[in-house]
Amino acid sequence: MFPSRLVKTILSHSKNSGFWSKHTAACSSRMQHTEAQQAEGAVPFRPETSMARTMMDIGTRRIFSEEHDLFRENVRRFFREEVVPYHAQWEKDGQVSRELWEKAGSQGLLGIYTPAEQGGVGGDLLSAAIVWEEQMYCNCTGPGFSLHSEIVMPYISHYGTKAQMEHFFPQMAAGKCIGAIAMTEPGAGSDLQGVKTFARKDGNDWILNGTKVFITNGWMSDLVIVVAVTNREAKMAAHGLSLFLVENGTKGFQKGRKLDKIGLKAQDTAELFFEDVRLPADALLGEVNKGFYYLMNELPQERLIIAVMALASCEFMFEETRNYVRQRKAFGKTIADIQTVQHKLAELKTEICVGRSFIDNCLQLHSEKKLDSSTASMAKFWASDLQNRVATQCLQLHGGWGYMWEYPIAKAFADARVQPIYGGTNEIMKELIARPIVSQK
Ligand SMILES: Cc1cc2nc3c(=O)[nH]c(=O)nc-3n(C[C@H](O)[C@H](O)[C@H](O)COP(=O)(O)OP(=O)(O)OC[C@H]3O[C@@H](n4cnc5c(N)ncnc54)[C@H](O)[C@@H]3O)c2cc1C
Repeated sequence: MFPSRLVKTILSHSKNSGFWSKHTAACSSRMQHTEAQQAEGAVPFRPETSMARTMMDIGTRRIFSEEHDLFRENVRRFFREEVVPYHAQWEKDGQVSRELWEKAGSQGLLGIYTPAEQGGVGGDLLSAAIVWEEQMYCNCTGPGFSLHSEIVMPYISHYGTKAQMEHFFPQMAAGKCIGAIAMTEPGAGSDLQGVKTFARKDGNDWILNGTKVFITNGWMSDLVIVVAVTNREAKMAAHGLSLFLVENGTKGFQKGRKLDKIGLKAQDTAELFFEDVRLPADALLGEVNKGFYYLMNELPQERLIIAVMALASCEFMFEETRNYVRQRKAFGKTIADIQTVQHKLAELKTEICVGRSFIDNCLQLHSEKKLDSSTASMAKFWASDLQNRVATQCLQLHGGWGYMWEYPIAKAFADARVQPIYGGTNEIMKELIARPIVSQK
């Protein structure tokens, strides 16, 4: 059920003039409709992905409601109109436009899952997930919205002060302040406890020194959450890490080049340098030396996002390939008429639909705040591996054309490759999954 709380929140959300108000009006009328239907016991059947006409159909999957469907229609339109036509240029530029961020903000698509009383939109997790999925359904990986909205904003929402929320959230929800998170360093990726970036106390201030690499939204970022060592004497490195809010323009904070990647071409992944950056006491996020615990608490949501986007990409690639083989001819018939191709499609569809069930279950669990770290790791590992298997098979079914950048499957294939790497590699996911298996008595 679409939360009526969200409808009210959206109505009172002054900045969301166009998109959300139209959506809200439609929601209100549909909600009455839905309530009436429920009273009559005639709730419409929502087919699961395996039963739907296509895997990207609106109106499917039991975890969503009719109100979510309306929202999805609007989000789909947003991506089709505001992202798809410009994406090829953004791939050349290595970044999307600032204008896009502000458009997304003005339409209430940023900070959906951040409570309205803190300055977010105050929507539910499933509405946020619709934005992640729709981005993959249009095969445009440029905008780093999910990282900004559902990875960076939650740190401030969960550990920040009222003043920090008041300062950052209105701008972040408006797309005027782009967020990034900087954990990885040239010498420390999987092993976060190997971080060398150091913040030392100087009176009430902190002096930050270090280098970060592979930072999503890094080049365009206005705000970066930086992971730094604050206690080199801690018995375990995990007990000596803290998080800092560093704003673009702070003296000593410099951005390196936009990194040249094999995929995610329109995403501005960058190196960041901090040289004697003086930060006031209120740049500390949460408590000193608690950074590692905050990261461990927040990483399951990041992993769920990767899993959800991976599954949506599988669905996109499947539909793209189904369309291709039905029109491509060889040996006097379409490729789709060949039985081995049909079996391959049957295998792919089955695997994707099995994955869809698990990921929807994880979404539901996380909506109820019950998703544990190990299950989130399974979702991330399995869905991102599946995405790469599906990408390989779907590209193969396109033949040589699949290797050409102008074909969407080529881009989807290249973009898929990073998914088992970031957010914790899939090898690290297996460590996290294995731990409770062997430690349980
Ligand atoms: C496009 C992109 C965007 C990114 N965005 C961000 C971002 O926004 N913020 C951020 O902080 N980071 C980001 N990252 C960094 C990413 O999270 C790291 O690359 C990842 O955690 C792996 O670290 P590493 O690259 O140092 O690899 P390494 O840790 O050096 O690992 C190398 C290999 O060794 C394996 N390995 C390491 N330890 C173990 C172990 N204990 N057991 C088994 N195998 C192991 C790994 O699985 C991997 O296969 C991004 C990376 C990319 C490519």
